[in-house]
Amino acid sequence: MAKKQFKAESKRLLEMMINSIYSQREVFLRELISNSSDAIDKIYYKALTDDALRYYIKVSADKEDRTLKITDTGIGMAKDEMESNLGIIAKSGSLSFKNENELKDGHDIIGQFGVGFYAAFMVADVVTVISKALGNDEAYKWESKGTDGYTIEPFEKDSVGTDIILTIKENTEDETYDEYLEEHRIKAIIKKYSDFIRYPIKMDITEQRPKEGSENEYEDVTEEKVINSMVPIWRKNRNELTSEDYEKFYTDKHYGFDKPLKHIHINVDGAVRYNAILYIPENIPFDYYSKEYEKGLELYSNGVLIMNKCSELLPDYFSFVKGLVDSEDLSLNISREMLQHDRQLKLIAKNISKKIKSQLQSLLKEEREQYEKFYQSFGRQLKYGVYSDFGSNKELLQDLLLFYSSKEKKLVTLDEYVSRMPEDQNYIYYATGESYDRIEKLPQTELVADKGYEILYFTEDIDEFAIKMIRAYEEKEFKSVSSGDLGIEGEDNDTNSESEDNENKELFDLMKNILSDKVKDVRVSKRLKSHPVCLSTDGEVTIEMEKILSAMPDNQNVKADKILEINLNHEVFQSLKEAFENDKEKLNLYTNLLYNQALLIEGLPIHDPVEFTNDMCKIMV
Ligand code: ADP
Ligand code: MG
Repeated sequence: MAKKQFKAESKRLLEMMINSIYSQREVFLRELISNSSDAIDKIYYKALTDDALRYYIKVSADKEDRTLKITDTGIGMAKDEMESNLGIIAKSGSLSFKNENELKDGHDIIGQFGVGFYAAFMVADVVTVISKALGNDEAYKWESKGTDGYTIEPFEKDSVGTDIILTIKENTEDETYDEYLEEHRIKAIIKKYSDFIRYPIKMDITEQRPKEGSENEYEDVTEEKVINSMVPIWRKNRNELTSEDYEKFYTDKHYGFDKPLKHIHINVDGAVRYNAILYIPENIPFDYYSKEYEKGLELYSNGVLIMNKCSELLPDYFSFVKGLVDSEDLSLNISREMLQHDRQLKLIAKNISKKIKSQLQSLLKEEREQYEKFYQSFGRQLKYGVYSDFGSNKELLQDLLLFYSSKEKKLVTLDEYVSRMPEDQNYIYYATGESYDRIEKLPQTELVADKGYEILYFTEDIDEFAIKMIRAYEEKEFKSVSSGDLGIEGEDNDTNSESEDNENKELFDLMKNILSDKVKDVRVSKRLKSHPVCLSTDGEVTIEMEKILSAMPDNQNVKADKILEINLNHEVFQSLKEAFENDKEKLNLYTNLLYNQALLIEGLPIHDPVEFTNDMCKIMV
């Protein structure tokens, strides 16, 4: 029997293939099982026997012989088909089959490149294929040791179908191959990549069981079991599935330890066809806000796992979403690991993003409590999404934001805020601080609250930055209650305060001198009611932003332009005036005390605490 040579190009290609196409060796099994599945698809199509029991794939390992066998009851291969499909690399019998039978794209056949089979040589020294084709009487054996060619000879086989027998390589110093003979390892690989192959994949599974009639004696029992789930839940009809089914799938897939807050099941039959099941988790994964967290969805092509975490499918602001996408329209590259070009993927990602948004919106509308739970966990990520990419996603995200309201004493949307603004209110007011309690007590909120205006409380670092990015909602700009100009009619423009400023000019100038470069100005306050002093800011940078920016590692030393505001109606002001007239030493003391108090109220550090306490003591004695 003459040994046939692979075509020269094929020989080189085979070497290349074996060594470089696949990043993980274990995918050889995915490829062989995919081929078996294709072969069963074909016999199903040709013979149309609906005898479900006839169609299966069986995987068995023999440690002694070091062989791993994949048997299928598919269409099989005639001698010439072995010759062309296995002897010519990059010749895909499956692709020809699709073309010859004019199968539409929608068909499930996986193969198309004509290389997957050779992945077997990554783990095997010898690959033997015994096959009997549908409608043929003879069976044949094809055998190859890799690059040096192959043989074909007649062989005995009773039933139609194919056995692929791999003689697994011996371990080397650097590589172990024994694992591909281990039952649990093989099972795990099948579960990982081929769980949703439509035909049963069987294995003989050995388990320890208590011996009959005895409680503490065990015996090994071997039983043939189907190990794949077969029907992908995402291809099922939504109406057939219960919330429990979705929750079980979430747990089975190890997407999280929690119960998902919401699932989204998508079947799209448009420009790109895909199915997806997405989950919005209830709890934050422990590593979510760390660098270690990897976003992404599982990506399947025709039910076969292609990628564990495809990050392109999710924008950062929805990185908490878990789940998978299955599409038959992906242009995979030859290793079926990476995508050749990602037009389809981009389309899917865009589509998915829209669906997630509309789901969140309906959750917000219809199940507010659930939404707030979600927001507790992932609101920060949404705000971050508003801020990043130069605000390019703010339109998409701004309606998903919630902030605590001074009036409602609960989280409200911007839309809710704006819709109940009184006619004379020109701005959306907010106040920043460490907690709702502390913000509530901020002196700067007094006037705005007095006017009956609602104030949004910002307690997270990102809040003010996100809001600056949005700039205005429904044409209403945001304004900090600490900003120099509050934009409140009748309060700011009254000439009264200007004359008051003039009247006390000398006093304020002196105070400004005392504080030197610590403040930009000392002014009459229009916003204070019961407190003697507070700080406000001129310009874009607020005190809260100064705090955050100065805590950053590459801090640019950005400072807010601080104004010390004095409440003329407070008794303390009288003391200031008296001191100004009679005792400049005292004025110095009071000015520093008031300034430090204002800092404390803002949660800013006092420059010299010892001096501050000494000053306190001075006024006591
Ligand atoms: P692809 O699956 O992309 O077509 P492969 O290299 O995996 O490429 O397989 C090459 C061809 O060999 C297949 O297209 C198919 O015609 C044939 N083949 C491989 N395995 C089997 C099998 N188990 N049963 C029948 N035909 C097979
Ligand atoms: Mg294949």
